[in-house]
Amino acid sequence: MSLVELGMPGVVRRPAPPDGRPAVAGLVDRFGRVATDLRVSLTDRCNLRCTYCMPAEGLPTLPRDAVMTRAEITRLVDVATRELGVRQVRFTGGEPLLRGDLVEIVRDCAALPRRPELSLTTNAVGLESRARALRDAGLDRVNVSLDTLDPDTFATLARRPFLERTLAGIDAAAEVFAVVKVNAVLVRGVNLDHAADLLSWCLERGFELRFIEQMPLDADHAWDRAAMVTAAEVRALLGTRFTLEPDDEPRDGAPAERFRVLDRTTGRALGRVGVIASVTEPFCGDCRRTRLTAEGAVRDCLFAHTETDLLGPLRAGASDGALADLWRTAMWGKRAGHGMDGPGFTQPARTMSAIGG
Ligand code: SAM
Ligand code: SF4
Repeated sequence: MSLVELGMPGVVRRPAPPDGRPAVAGLVDRFGRVATDLRVSLTDRCNLRCTYCMPAEGLPTLPRDAVMTRAEITRLVDVATRELGVRQVRFTGGEPLLRGDLVEIVRDCAALPRRPELSLTTNAVGLESRARALRDAGLDRVNVSLDTLDPDTFATLARRPFLERTLAGIDAAAEVFAVVKVNAVLVRGVNLDHAADLLSWCLERGFELRFIEQMPLDADHAWDRAAMVTAAEVRALLGTRFTLEPDDEPRDGAPAERFRVLDRTTGRALGRVGVIASVTEPFCGDCRRTRLTAEGAVRDCLFAHTETDLLGPLRAGASDGALADLWRTAMWGKRAGHGMDGPGFTQPARTMSAIGG
């Protein structure tokens, strides 16, 4: 039986639409994938300028009234969870901590009738003063981005000298959240040699580190398939310092391939590490993701070239059912894969910071 026939918990069944879409009202696509994991970008602004994401001079930012308000975000998360079977919501950006109302957004979403699991992806600059309030508001998990522990390399990669502030944010998160995950992007000639040290540091603190392959979503269009650090290379590099064993737990749609990390000499278990091979070993066939940009547009994929506006209809008075229908139709057209290795691939106009990573 296919996923479409099975449906998903929390998915409302409706009569089959006339265009051949299935009678399941969740976010199903033509290939039977069901999106239950929503990424919401809260802002396109950021206080760092990571070379693989933003240009040095920044990007023109959205006018204030073009960005979803707290109430609009909560309304769309409510539609996603109540009408469309979304179960996990991750707030991202840009830098979500730049939203002064982040704690309130989390609190509102945590109070929804079908409360989703709530998480945050952040560069952790400024998290120190807000980690506890976010936890108290209902945030379940935090992923922080940290590419190096060396202040100069941090300043080179992020183009801002904020390593100490990031580390203070991570410490604060570790005090209040049971699970802290760390995301790192490796750039050849910059921080590739820091990978094993970063893993040691994370293991000592009980953080799960995930290395993400660099994707062509940078504003500078400097991404080079031949020069990027591949997942295979990361595994080989870490293997010179640690023993990596494939994790037995089912992947269950998670983008990271997880490994148990053992001490090379004693065989002692040290923790886990993940490698996200979005480019070289894509997991599009099991993708469960849908995205909302800060302007309230649905993107079915990071690499989509089209978007479906929900904020305009919402502001014009659309009902929950009408918004859900627009969202469903947008996801139905999702392509089988991002096609990054194909001849016709073109980088989307938006950068990672403007999509919501
Ligand atoms: N500002 C927050 C942060 O950095 O965590 C949230 C937004 S950021 C776009 C989300 C994640 O995307 C970060 O972990 C970042 O390292 C990653 N990222 C950004 N650009 C990327 C790229 N070109 N390829 C792969 N990952 C990227
Ligand atoms: Fe900002 Fe995150 Fe992009 Fe770095 S990766 S520039 S912190 S949005």
